[in-house]
Amino acid sequence: MTARIIDGAATALRLRADIAAQIEALSADARRPGLAVVLVGENPASQVYVRNKGVATRKAGMLSTEHRLPDTTSEAELLAQVESLNADPTVDGILVQLPLPGHINVAKVLAAIDPEKDVDGFHALNVGRLWGGEDGLVPCTPRGCMKLIQEVEPHLRGKTAVVIGRSGIVGKPMAQLLLAADCTVTIAHSRTIDLPGVCRQADILVAAVGIPGLVKANFVKPGAIVIDVGINRLDGEDGKSRLVGDVDFPDVAQVAGAITPVPGGVGPMTIACLLENTLIAYKRREGLA
Ligand code: NAD
Repeated sequence: MTARIIDGAATALRLRADIAAQIEALSADARRPGLAVVLVGENPASQVYVRNKGVATRKAGMLSTEHRLPDTTSEAELLAQVESLNADPTVDGILVQLPLPGHINVAKVLAAIDPEKDVDGFHALNVGRLWGGEDGLVPCTPRGCMKLIQEVEPHLRGKTAVVIGRSGIVGKPMAQLLLAADCTVTIAHSRTIDLPGVCRQADILVAAVGIPGLVKANFVKPGAIVIDVGINRLDGEDGKSRLVGDVDFPDVAQVAGAITPVPGGVGPMTIACLLENTLIAYKRREGLA
């Protein structure tokens, strides 16, 4: 079997076009949705992410503001920045780019973000809302994964799903979304015994680990949907680096029914879902949803 390739880049473009059309359709005197991104320090990968988010936000017709702070910024200064964005009526979404420098308490900063502007969905209130089945803002990467899964299989009720990875950013919210879609869900992790055997049960297998090529063909039930969240940078022999996922793509594509590539799978969906979350936050604040 050769798997269908799930084109996350194309799906993300469609979602972004839909968001842009909704913003275009706002009345001329309506305020535009606004996303504020805060970056502390000079982490090169974070700088690329923040730049890409800014470009995507503006392309969608939203207001984009970037707040770049030096890595000597104190926790109190960062909290003051978050407070000022909480109070800013033109800002619907606040994203503090992670990781933060070691002297700053991440949990404290995430807790300071107004939950109604928490477009990353990391605030404890939004985590609780997700687990309680209430409306909230859902973390962007799992939200994007769900859209890709549902594109291949709209009827998830009763399917067996295995998520590898139990982070608060991807693994746990991913499992919760699959559970909410009536899947029977297992979360596997670094202490799981017989990981290939556990994964082979899955109709839907999501890998969010950070180990290049961890998932091989013997982890995959024939015909399963395989979603690769991993982003791992490998140095090639030619001196150039390339991105690979957590799934051994050529091996797994022989067995899976459908599979996301890296790059061009989950990654583009994360940014598209960030824009979608910003639009949702805007609509709620404006009383439109
Ligand atoms: P994390 O390090 O917080 O969590 C990794 C998880 O993998 C842990 O729960 C751990 O238990 C599990 N794990 C580690 N070794 C394992 C093993 N040998 N077998 C089974 N499980 C194991 O990472 P994260 O933030 O959840 O990110 C995971 C991956 O997803 C990374 O590669 C990250 O770069 C990528 N990521 C991609 C996007 C995107 O937009 N595509 C977004 C977020 C994260």
